[in-house]
Amino acid sequence: MRIGVPTEIKKQESRVGLTPESAGELVRAGHQVNIQAGAGIASGFADETYTAIGAAILPDAEALFAQSDLIVKVKEPQPEETARLTKDHTLFTYLHLAPDPVQAKGLMNSGCLAIAYETVTDAHGGLPLLRPMSQVAGRMSMQVAAGALMRTKGRGRGILLGGVPGVAPAKVVIIGGGVSGTHAAEIAVGMRADVWVFDRNNERLGELDEQFRGTINTMYSTAHSLAEAIKDADLVIGAVLIPGASAPKLVSRAQLSTMQPGSVLVDIAIDQGGCFETSRPTTHDDPIYEVDGILHYCVANMPGAVPRTSTYALNNATLPFVMQIANLGARNAINANKHLANGLTADQGTIAHKLVARDLGEKY
Ligand code: NAD
Repeated sequence: MRIGVPTEIKKQESRVGLTPESAGELVRAGHQVNIQAGAGIASGFADETYTAIGAAILPDAEALFAQSDLIVKVKEPQPEETARLTKDHTLFTYLHLAPDPVQAKGLMNSGCLAIAYETVTDAHGGLPLLRPMSQVAGRMSMQVAAGALMRTKGRGRGILLGGVPGVAPAKVVIIGGGVSGTHAAEIAVGMRADVWVFDRNNERLGELDEQFRGTINTMYSTAHSLAEAIKDADLVIGAVLIPGASAPKLVSRAQLSTMQPGSVLVDIAIDQGGCFETSRPTTHDDPIYEVDGILHYCVANMPGAVPRTSTYALNNATLPFVMQIANLGARNAINANKHLANGLTADQGTIAHKLVARDLGEKY
């Protein structure tokens, strides 16, 4: 199969669909891999690293789309990319189509077969192509928070996450003990912070208790327990998810006045609307703003700041599916793999995912 990897053109997106290593695996399996010139540069992959493993470099998106059957991307196609898609293309990427009727119409008009990373499933009921990005966001949250807590810009509380002998560490409250919350906790524990993880799922709290062996405190999440915990927290991480729904608002504006000035909120769940009343999406250019003396970090695309790590993490999860599509053909691969089939979102001019169709008001 001819597999094409275009340069990502969405603003601030520096990841790339295939690493040279993944491209190499596909070439070894007998496939033709086309990379748009410069597609990997922001992730640290020069064109030569792709040609070295037998991929072809094509000069522009026009040539790339025209000479490829399977398009492997990271972000949802932008209008000029959607316009290049035809009924002969298979598109494999994050789509987040439900709130995006313009993109949905574009994909339907193209007639392409589109498989969305975010709804591909695994045998444990998880979302294997979302998990790596939650891992990145969780671990990164502690890195950005550590900086925000510093006083260097005259705003942070001036606290070192781990404290020092004789001085207490920062108190870190993590709301949501799923993938991103757990990875945030791992880094916080590694930095020797005083870590509290809140969840509403008792089974999950039990697993965390086993996993962390006394290095974190687990708490059942209620309005009251959270309200008490944030009063003396230096850092609060919002890492909740209710699948298919907007994030619940768990900290109100009025509650900010109960917190210590210069404390930091990191809202990982901002891509689902955020779990703090005062959250609004920010970008890596200007990630932090202040409300009532409390610093807010609400970047909706955190993994975009570490494209090299994120591209590798994403590829580790996507490569087996890309390989299956390439080896069997998209339609046979979908028939053979129900987890891949769960990602099917657009097909021959229709929306092929029940929930996405419902949200878009399209027939299914
Ligand atoms: P997850 O499903 O693994 O974990 C969510 C956890 O929240 C679950 O354990 C659930 O029980 C818990 N929860 C639900 N309601 C709660 C409540 N009221 N109080 C406490 N806990 C509650 O989800 P995840 O993969 O960690 O993702 C979390 C969010 O981060 C999602 O919205 C995801 O889209 C987002 N995300 C954002 C970025 C970014 O760049 N900002 C990157 C990756 C993921």
